[in-house]
Amino acid sequence: MAGLDWLALRESVAACRACGLCESRTQTVFGVGHPQAHWMVVGEAPGEDEDREGEPFVGASGQLLDRMLAALKLSRGSDGPPERSVYIANALKCRPPRNRNPSAEELAQCEPFLVRQIELLQPRIILAMGRFAVQSLLRSDAPIGRLRGQVHRYQGVPLVVSYHPAYLLRSPGEKAKAWEDLCLAADTVEQALR
Ligand code: URA
Repeated sequence: MAGLDWLALRESVAACRACGLCESRTQTVFGVGHPQAHWMVVGEAPGEDEDREGEPFVGASGQLLDRMLAALKLSRGSDGPPERSVYIANALKCRPPRNRNPSAEELAQCEPFLVRQIELLQPRIILAMGRFAVQSLLRSDAPIGRLRGQVHRYQGVPLVVSYHPAYLLRSPGEKAKAWEDLCLAADTVEQALR
């Protein structure tokens, strides 16, 4: 994977048959956003909408994510300034059937793609949303509630943990905490610029 540029990496994901998810996917879901975005959001896996459209976070949880990002004047568009742009990717590039949880083996097989995306992007901040994103990036099984509220590091890049938007849709009472997490991420980026 090392040495692949964006296009070659995208092609390599599209052709991947490393685990059984290739049998049931409609298409792979690579990632979306500015290739020099300062922000990176890492989610878990494509759902039904993402599998159909080929873009991460396009369903209901994606709409919530976009609204949260817009509140900080951030967007997934690829033609804005890098400092206001977010690149969005998932830990898994293929939809697990019926949205079941990804297996440890599937996450491990897919991880090199995410690692290379982070190397190419070199984000100023990573926002890891949900248990499986955190498991991939921080190698931690600890609950989100214990990991949020502090700045972790992934290969030197500051990383903030937050709840998955799908969880926030089910538990709207937790939205205030997710907003605190986004503000922590924004403060971390700003402090690095000072
Ligand atoms: N949930 C995720 O984690 N990623 C998506 O792309 C969609 C829903």
